[in-house]
Amino acid sequence: MLEGVGVTTSRPAYVQPDGTSMYSAGSLFQLLRDGRPRTRAELAAETGLARSTVTQRVDALLASNLIGPADKAASTGGRPPTRFAFNPNARYVLAADIGATHARLALTDLAAEVLAQSADDLLVAAGPEIVLDWVDRVGHDLIRQAGRDPRDLLGVGIGLPGPVEHSTGRPVSPPIMPGWDGFDVQGYLQDRFGAVALVDNDVNIMALGEHNVAWSDAPHMMFVKVATGIGSGLISDGRLHRGAQGAAGDMGHLQLPHGTDVVCRCGNTGCLEAVASGAAIAAKLAARGIEASTSFDVVALARGGNIEALQLLRQAGRDIGEVLAAAVSLFNPSVIVIGGSLSQAGEHLIAGVREIVYRRSLPLATQDLRIVQSSTGDRAGIIGAAVMVIDHALAPAQVDLLMSAAPAAMS
Ligand SMILES: [Zn+2]
Repeated sequence: MLEGVGVTTSRPAYVQPDGTSMYSAGSLFQLLRDGRPRTRAELAAETGLARSTVTQRVDALLASNLIGPADKAASTGGRPPTRFAFNPNARYVLAADIGATHARLALTDLAAEVLAQSADDLLVAAGPEIVLDWVDRVGHDLIRQAGRDPRDLLGVGIGLPGPVEHSTGRPVSPPIMPGWDGFDVQGYLQDRFGAVALVDNDVNIMALGEHNVAWSDAPHMMFVKVATGIGSGLISDGRLHRGAQGAAGDMGHLQLPHGTDVVCRCGNTGCLEAVASGAAIAAKLAARGIEASTSFDVVALARGGNIEALQLLRQAGRDIGEVLAAAVSLFNPSVIVIGGSLSQAGEHLIAGVREIVYRRSLPLATQDLRIVQSSTGDRAGIIGAAVMVIDHALAPAQVDLLMSAAPAAMS
């Protein structure tokens, strides 16, 4: 036997890098996640698998309920099904979006469609136990009210308004979240819900949500949140780029080129956030004797046509544009989405961003670059938190695991 001589690979060719066999049931399932119904013959043609293998995989997926028959006749008990499609109701997800003063929680299906939701005024500064107990209590209420089996919970996703080390699910020195530093958010939620929990910062999940809903065909996208603070989330090659520790995209504390002496809450001077955030604009308006203390006040003034608010928004857009022009050169996105509460104030902010980015970036980087307003608005975080869980838990290896682990609970 000489076949093995000189072969250094440790796995057979039909095993993929993530350890699943090529077109295991979990891999075959990925094709169906786009929602388009397919026949066995179509699946065999797309994968190159034998019809008998496809039939075996499809039967296993049908038994798990992750796919269902797509023919009307079959579902009413007529002839056996010939076409199959993803069943987004097979399981469900809890998605939480925690802001500085407000919390939202939703129950979604496996397509990140919101089925039920709840929101409350809640201070993140009250500490992790109070906030996460709210998620625990309201989450279980939503599950009960929807009449769902707690065992069908696929996972819990949560976004927090501060830096998070994604691999451990722990916040790291979050400035506006006293008591949260190093807290095991992931472990706490997994304990309470008996399902996987994933944690990320709020801007990253907003980027995921916006990308999933509006830009899934744009592999390189940048999402900029302009609210009380400023931050961004990067989608690179269709995936969230978190960087080595999860700190990628934290653009609020980059220093503006035309430095100012404004002191930022981080201790440095001239940070973008200290000059162009909703809080900064509100402070500038207040200094001119106009009543404003939050980004929502700024939005209300702008919508009411207040000239000074509009001018300050335009200038904030230009300042953000200065930093984004550098990001465009480094990252070359095809879409920049401007989101967060301040983006709801109308066109002035985004006009300022466009003015500078198109002027300051090289033609090749901007010839097809689109700079647009967020289409998901305040739903971005919830949808993104759900997408984070779904993408993790419905990956090929996880689906294979799910199917071998508990077939009885899923039927
Ligand atoms: Zn700063």
